[in-house]
Amino acid sequence: MPAARPHLLGLTRVELAARAVAWGFSPVHSATLWNELYLQGRRSPSEFTPHDRLPARYLDRVFAECDFDFPSIAKETHSSDGFTRKYLLGLRDAHRIETVLMRYSGRVTACVSSQVGCAMGCVFCATGQMGYTRHLTAAEIVAQALHVDAVLRATAPEAPTAAEPAHPSPHHRHERLRNVVFMGMGEPLHNYDAVMQAIDILRDPAGLALGAQKISVSTVGVVPGIRRLAAEKRPVHLAVSLHGATQEERAALVPAARKWRLDELMDACREYTATLGKRIFFEWTLIDGQNDGHAHARAVGELLKGIPAQVNLIPLNPTLGYAGEPTRPAGARAFQDVLATYGIPCTVRQRRGIDIAAGCGQLAID
Ligand code: SF4
Repeated sequence: MPAARPHLLGLTRVELAARAVAWGFSPVHSATLWNELYLQGRRSPSEFTPHDRLPARYLDRVFAECDFDFPSIAKETHSSDGFTRKYLLGLRDAHRIETVLMRYSGRVTACVSSQVGCAMGCVFCATGQMGYTRHLTAAEIVAQALHVDAVLRATAPEAPTAAEPAHPSPHHRHERLRNVVFMGMGEPLHNYDAVMQAIDILRDPAGLALGAQKISVSTVGVVPGIRRLAAEKRPVHLAVSLHGATQEERAALVPAARKWRLDELMDACREYTATLGKRIFFEWTLIDGQNDGHAHARAVGELLKGIPAQVNLIPLNPTLGYAGEPTRPAGARAFQDVLATYGIPCTVRQRRGIDIAAGCGQLAID
């Protein structure tokens, strides 16, 4: 089978420079090309020609050797409060993914997908209910971040006013993308190489220049991936979806836990925190009457003893394929109170974007 053509957005700056040299061109040209891609926002080969600083011969070779396109925007929906936008993106092979732009807690964040569908099958997750189709390429991941960045740059900032609400306005302040979370469709550590290649590209200081501390990778507990993150000392944030604090309870919600058992997962988490000296964010979907009682909270406290951790509680978001109900706010607060007795910081995730099915676990391709 012939090797797939590289995509420009899947190449690091160093890889792009190496190609320029191999083709007999100066790396200065590849540096200019990189600038055009990541700072000037070019979106197709036709936007490069004619170019005052890039020779036509170089551009001809680049586009003869590499693909360069963006997913099409099949649908765009905005939440009623204006804080969330969801994009249904069409890929070249007609598969579709979703990307979410969130403006919460004074930050703008892109929630990107890493796969078409997901193989992990978490019972309350719309993506898991779709099943797995394929991994995304690094270029398809980078394109999602660039898309959100382009949306932000196209949004004219408004000056804050005296009448500005206490919470951040959805319409001003941020003109460039600063935060990316791998919490969209798919399990990022199941597609490790492409996700890390994309992160390297997003972090490049001559491009989007995202800080490692502004990137979060969320996993349902893919133990080999967590160990690899530790071995490679990847400085991004790690979020681990727990949802159950015993093997049986967890496996009932997260089928992947049958492959990577809870004790094995916690060993990998300890290895990660010991190696990187970083805390882990543990995600806990609160399902009314199922995993939201005092005993469950105490079990979480015991499980996380000795691990630098923060727990994020996420009241269940509705999906068509799961009948559970979210824990009410008082129940979430009680859960927090129990974790506080263990000295574990714990937040309750704001429920946003639910009206456009852009909340945690709701992404599908409708
Ligand atoms: S919650 Fe994450 S890992 Fe689980 S099925 Fe959904 S996308 Fe996959």
